[in-house]
Amino acid sequence: KESVMAGENYEDDMHAKKSEDAAEKTALEELQEVRKSLPIYNYREQLLKAVEEHQVLVIVGETGSGKTTQIPQYLHEAGYTKRGKVGCTQPRRVAAMSVAARVAQEMGVKLGHEVGYSIRFEDCTSDKTILKYMTDGMLLRELLGEPDLASYSVVIVDEAHERTLSTDILFGLVKDIARFRPDLKLLISSATMDAEKFSDYFDSAPIFSFPGRRYPVEMNFTSAPEADYMDAAIVTVLTIHVREPLGDILVFLTGQEEIESAEEILKQRIRGFGTKIRELIICPIYANLPSELQAKIFEPTPEGARKVVLATNIAETSLTIDGIKYVVDPGFSKMKSYNPKTGMESLLITPISKASASQRAGRAGRTSAGKCYRLYTAFNYNNDLEENTVPEVQRTNLASVVLALKSLGIHDLINFDFMDPPPAEALVKALELLFALGALNKLGELTKAGRRMAEFPLDPMLSKMIVVSDKYKCSDEIISIAAMLSIGGTIFYRPKDKQVHADNARMNFNTGNVGDHIALLKVYSSWKETNYSTQWCYENYIQVKSMKRARDIRDQLEGLLERVEIEISSNLNDMDVIRKSIVAGFFPHTAKLQKTGSYRTVKHPQTVHIHPNSGLAQVVPRWVVYHELVLTSKEYMRQVTELKPEWLIELAPHYYQLKDVEEAATKMPKGAGKAAI
Ligand code: ADP
Ligand code: MG
Repeated sequence: KESVMAGENYEDDMHAKKSEDAAEKTALEELQEVRKSLPIYNYREQLLKAVEEHQVLVIVGETGSGKTTQIPQYLHEAGYTKRGKVGCTQPRRVAAMSVAARVAQEMGVKLGHEVGYSIRFEDCTSDKTILKYMTDGMLLRELLGEPDLASYSVVIVDEAHERTLSTDILFGLVKDIARFRPDLKLLISSATMDAEKFSDYFDSAPIFSFPGRRYPVEMNFTSAPEADYMDAAIVTVLTIHVREPLGDILVFLTGQEEIESAEEILKQRIRGFGTKIRELIICPIYANLPSELQAKIFEPTPEGARKVVLATNIAETSLTIDGIKYVVDPGFSKMKSYNPKTGMESLLITPISKASASQRAGRAGRTSAGKCYRLYTAFNYNNDLEENTVPEVQRTNLASVVLALKSLGIHDLINFDFMDPPPAEALVKALELLFALGALNKLGELTKAGRRMAEFPLDPMLSKMIVVSDKYKCSDEIISIAAMLSIGGTIFYRPKDKQVHADNARMNFNTGNVGDHIALLKVYSSWKETNYSTQWCYENYIQVKSMKRARDIRDQLEGLLERVEIEISSNLNDMDVIRKSIVAGFFPHTAKLQKTGSYRTVKHPQTVHIHPNSGLAQVVPRWVVYHELVLTSKEYMRQVTELKPEWLIELAPHYYQLKDVEEAATKMPKGAGKAAI
């Protein structure tokens, strides 16, 4: 009987397989048709000829015309992958993942095999990979191990107009590599912006530009400034939904929190309409959205329904969503800003540039005529918006790239071939910080600690914290903390109807007012003790996804420890050594309590506050070290731990003098500043 059964199953399987194959084939064929319908397809031969004839080529084409998904495939079809990989950089993680998934699908291969992606803490490639999408930051890191990019035949620096810090640094490095590797092809690809500038920079490289499809977009401005752009955006979406013909809506918001709250409000209002209106499908998209939900934005909208995509800047040029007819643009984005005088960095909600506004509007006219609703006045647009977004290199902390460049053997940073140079004081500040962290010596040369730090794909302050933990024999705990700090999303959630429970669960990790870093460690180790239980996460109002990501990151950090020959050692009995390791990395981020109850940063005095979500918000210790500053209604310190002021002199003698901590040390009441554990 068994064999008969098996036989039957076999036939069933075969049958299923055949029809699956057939379905797959038609799906593949369909995808090939779609490929041929993209604007770039008509220029395939011309493009390949230009690549053959020139070593460096600047490629410019409308967003959505097929640059990112098609050019690597064309190069593969033309045989370039026989000599090495084709690498294509993206400024955003989500774009790298999503585009790689799409291309794998178009080529009918499994993602991670011939087509893969590599982003920080996640390598989805294999020995087979010939088309590799990656973040610009990852290619920069690859250069540390392979300075001539020998395994690549073509490098595409894509979305070049975004001018991220890593892209700008890559420009200088790949330009140099191209000089001594005549066999390497270099393509700089961008949306319709800045082509001349790229060409000038790359020694007058030819510009290959091809027309995309662009349908007219009707522009609407508000007649008076909006007091609350979120509310205005929601009202606009609903008005479009009720009044305008079918077609999907794209709304640009500044970040995950805004998107989540907009989603919530929209759902509520839609419920209020009952069945009087058509179905409105809400799709959020932002950097930390789990990948299975990312795919949802690309699913075709069902007949009769409308889709509204709530996106960050990612949908400006990195991702193209088909079917968008209406764009709602409040005119803001979240931007990093850096004050080189104080060394303070924060994320600010900032008005966008005209170039950005034009890209956003363009998303409405890709497949047919569309409409763009700008939630600002024409006067605002004409008089207040900058022409172009300032490149990141001019508004960020440079410590991380300076460390990377130093490990690449590039010492003369002032004369590095920047397309737009950073402010000199920002470079000096970065060198000073790396010196204070012990990564560079007085001559500006990399030290042993600096070499170790450069191995970690982390901010130098985090790397330093890890490297120092070797001395204190607590690397096991410190990499857990570093992983938890690197998740880049929320760990705790607070459902509206269970806020009290959630807050209580959260406070459980804060026993003894130990500070947020130790609380994060407790969360991680408690989860580990339950053998990484999902149930445990639910019970404690903790995001399972975030924890899994923390575990992945931690695994990688553990691997890197081995590489820099730091032993994994655990020192759970002495919380002071854990806090000392934190301070050894984050000493520039210290603040002291003021009489007013607020804090002042020690080195470059600025008023700051403990974030209300911090376990120390009610404790108000005298001295704290913090992970980062976020500016909302006030300048808040997020992830805060208490420290002893004398540690600053012990751990950062090049940075703090006695006078910085003295006054407090003498005036301190007995026992204050002692570890609260
Ligand atoms: P460009 O780089 O010129 O902006 P792309 O190559 O990214 O253009 O996009 C070409 C087409 O591929 C677009 O129509 C876009 O909608 C589609 N596409 C890209 N990624 C995906 C995806 N993950 N799923 C479905 N379609 C996608
Ligand atoms: Mg693209």
